[in-house]
Amino acid sequence: MKSLVKIAPNYFYSSSTNIKNTARLPLSVCRGSERERFELAQRYSDMLSEHLDKCSKNDSCSVEDFTQGILNILGKNKIKFVINRNHSVISRGSLGRKTSSESFTYSLGDIFYTHSTTNIEGYNFELPLSKDKTRIKSKEVAIHEARHFFDHVCNPKLIDFRTLKLVHDDEAIKLNRRVYERFAGMSAFVPKCVLKKLVEHDLNKMNDEQAIEALQTVRATLKTEINAYNDGIKYLKKKPVKNMFAILNIADIKYSCKYEQKLKLANELLAQRLKLARESIHIEQKSSKSKTSLQDDFRLSLGLSDNS
Ligand SMILES: [Zn+2]
Repeated sequence: MKSLVKIAPNYFYSSSTNIKNTARLPLSVCRGSERERFELAQRYSDMLSEHLDKCSKNDSCSVEDFTQGILNILGKNKIKFVINRNHSVISRGSLGRKTSSESFTYSLGDIFYTHSTTNIEGYNFELPLSKDKTRIKSKEVAIHEARHFFDHVCNPKLIDFRTLKLVHDDEAIKLNRRVYERFAGMSAFVPKCVLKKLVEHDLNKMNDEQAIEALQTVRATLKTEINAYNDGIKYLKKKPVKNMFAILNIADIKYSCKYEQKLKLANELLAQRLKLARESIHIEQKSSKSKTSLQDDFRLSLGLSDNS
């Protein structure tokens, strides 16, 4: 959120999330644009996939090999993470944030509403483990969740967007949650135009910073989900015949959830709202800065210049 504050000091909320060094890579490692950061996460994910294949020819892998693979990739940058057994009946696995003040974790799929400063210290993998908790039963699930992990350590903004700072504004929290759930929950049977109308209805009741934050959250969630499914399929395609049904299953989930179409819609709505916000700042502040450079700043600060 720093870049937004830089553009309009009194306009946007400042961040109350403290992402500790144990939950993010230093800037010297993951500098650059949003696209470059995602490319770095992609390289890490590919390295882990190769490492796991070297360690085991099976569809499963040991918790030790998975842990060691991540530690080798991150080298001297110590990121905190733990691996637990996934008990959920609806998800295959998950990645959550670990906070310093609380022992429980938040799934990255949830929006995390905070009313005070929160320290994010690391991550909690929930994976399909064997009974003795020494093996991960599906390498593909391990790779999927690891991609979420790499996306987050390379892009600390992803955490920030999902930690909403809507202090004492219950209506805004309700609207924010609904926008998120419409994107996260709507199935393939809901046409894009219907989803757009429903979301716009809620966004119109929000002020600019609330709407922008809600759309940023949606956008971050969709991006890392697309990455994670793509990496899972990429791994399975190393043995296309053997994994044919698994590949079709993952492709079907991805298609049903319409992640790409939803990301396109979120980007469109975000661009529209940024345009409106920019115009109102321009009028209010009567800034000496030119309209074009202000627009460029917004686009750069939000990674929209990456055309993604
Ligand atoms: Zn996922």
